[in-house]
Amino acid sequence: MDTGQDRKKPLYSIGTVARILNVAVQTLRMYEREGLIVPSKSPGNQRLYSEADIERLRCIRRAITEEKIGIEGIRRLHSLIPCWDIIKCSVEDRRICTAFRGHVGGCWTHPHTKDICSTRDCRVCPVYELAVDCGNIKETIIIASRAYDDAVKA
Ligand code: SF4
Repeated sequence: MDTGQDRKKPLYSIGTVARILNVAVQTLRMYEREGLIVPSKSPGNQRLYSEADIERLRCIRRAITEEKIGIEGIRRLHSLIPCWDIIKCSVEDRRICTAFRGHVGGCWTHPHTKDICSTRDCRVCPVYELAVDCGNIKETIIIASRAYDDAVKA
C-alpha cells in the first residue's frame, strides 16, 4: 500500500523524471536553480526525486503552461506563504530572516545561517510541502492560516 512516507522516498533519477514529465533535464535543473523544487541528493551527490516531487513538478508545469504564471510569478507566490506563522518564529528570528521581509522566493530559497531555520530540513518542512500547489496560492494561505489557528488552539 502506498503511504505518505512512500510518496516521499527519493527514488527517481533526473533522467527518469524528465522522461515521465516529458521535459528536458535542463528544465528540471532550472526549476531547482530557481528554487521551485529541492530534490534529494544521494551520497554520491546525484539528484533523486520522490513521487511527491513529481507531483510538485506536475503542478509547476501546469502553472507555467496552462495558467501562464511563469517562474518569477511562482517565486513571488511562494514568498507570500506565511512561514513565520506556521513554524512560529520569534521576533528575533523574524528580525534577522531575509525570507520574512523578502518578496521573491519561498523561504527555503533564502540563506539561513543564524535563524531558527538554519538546522531545519526544508524538504520535510510543512511550509515547503504547502507550496506544492503553486497554482493556488490563496488556498495555500488559507491552509497555512488554519494550521496556525490549530497550533494556537493546541
Ligand atoms: S525549514 Fe525551510 S521551508 Fe521550513 S520555514 Fe524554514 S526555510 Fe522555510
